[in-house]
Amino acid sequence: MNLEENSRKLQASKAEANGDSHRISSSRFSSLLASKDRDYLLSQDGTQVPVASLVGKTIGLYFSSHWCLPGGKFTPKLISIYQKIKQMLVNKGNDDDFEIVFVSSDRDQAEFDSYFNSMPWLALPFGDPANKTLAKHFDVKGIPCLVILGPDGKTVSKHGRNLINLYQENAYPFTEAQVDLLEKQMDEEAQSLPRSKNHAGHRHELTLVSEGTGGGPFICCDCDEQGSGWAYQCLECGYEVHPKCVRAVDRGSMAES
Ligand SMILES: [Zn+2]
Ligand SMILES: [Zn+2]
Repeated sequence: MNLEENSRKLQASKAEANGDSHRISSSRFSSLLASKDRDYLLSQDGTQVPVASLVGKTIGLYFSSHWCLPGGKFTPKLISIYQKIKQMLVNKGNDDDFEIVFVSSDRDQAEFDSYFNSMPWLALPFGDPANKTLAKHFDVKGIPCLVILGPDGKTVSKHGRNLINLYQENAYPFTEAQVDLLEKQMDEEAQSLPRSKNHAGHRHELTLVSEGTGGGPFICCDCDEQGSGWAYQCLECGYEVHPKCVRAVDRGSMAES
């Protein structure tokens, strides 16, 4: 028996000692994120972080690459939200409950290095076969894509990117219950939003719409990210933005003249 096998057996028996549910989630995480000759992920400072240490946390798998244009906009946003979620958890006394793992489709090591350098979370090593098998496993059609795994390793949502765009750090922990709650809040908040607004980025007046009143899933013309539910829409040309993306301007009666 070699060393690696030894340590894996040790891990497994440790997991067993912690009870069955822990063992099951642990094996779920390792079957997704580890391989036969790697049981670790890379951290920012170059150290190896055991896959087993992710058990019990909410995990975001971030499928992206340096050459992906929408990623250029989304990655900085995700970094800032990641830091806010971490801060939120620190304030609650459980700072270690959330982690993101970068799953790269970069074309070479240099691209990977420079992209990963900008990220505060973990990554699968460049070129590791798990980068591809995970994309296949979660049926990732377009990047960037954020898949959320629950503390037990089960898939919570494949729409992490949309949830981040819609709800920022409040999306955490990305569960159905949390999304239901946020949707209700959004409906309530929308009651108090003005029916129409003037937005600095568009010359026509925008009207508040929801799925029931001509809205529906859309791409925000201001931040280029997807939205759903409530939006401000130009009824003349279809220009549509998230309510949070409106930069209100007071055009008064000027627009009429
Ligand atoms: Zn927007
Ligand atoms: Zn317009």
